[in-house]
Amino acid sequence: MSQLELVNDFNRQLNQELRNAYLYLSMAAYFESVTLPGFAHYFTVQAREELEHAMKFYRFMVDRGWSVELQEIPKPKTRWASVLEAAEDFLNAEIENTKRIWRMVDLARQAGDKAAESFLKWFVDEQVEEEKNASELLARVKLVKDHPAGLLALDRMLAERK
Ligand code: MG
Repeated sequence: MSQLELVNDFNRQLNQELRNAYLYLSMAAYFESVTLPGFAHYFTVQAREELEHAMKFYRFMVDRGWSVELQEIPKPKTRWASVLEAAEDFLNAEIENTKRIWRMVDLARQAGDKAAESFLKWFVDEQVEEEKNASELLARVKLVKDHPAGLLALDRMLAERK
């Protein structure tokens, strides 16, 4: 494991956090289109968090003197068949992200890069929170099923997210 491979991996993850921001902003727009403003708000907050994650990678790389090379961000999914499908996509995206972060910890260890390993610890902890949030949302959406009153109550609750 060379440092170059680690730098490439950090560039890839910076891009991945931006892709996730794009996905969640796209979900927010979808929820606006089906008149669920609470869900839309929840996912704009989530998108902003992903931008912050991307900036953490950016800052760390700059501070280490690593070369930041921004990559293309593909067009995200723009339509969902249901609220359930979007909630499933949210959880799956976070589960995938956890796997990527864990792999990066292994790479940092193999490279003997203590600073990278220490930096990634924050993301390991953050992913526990992210998966919990996404799991809870999915569980609530499943609970509500096709009951409009329940969905509107959940929408009001999600509007409270800070
Ligand atoms: Mg993230």
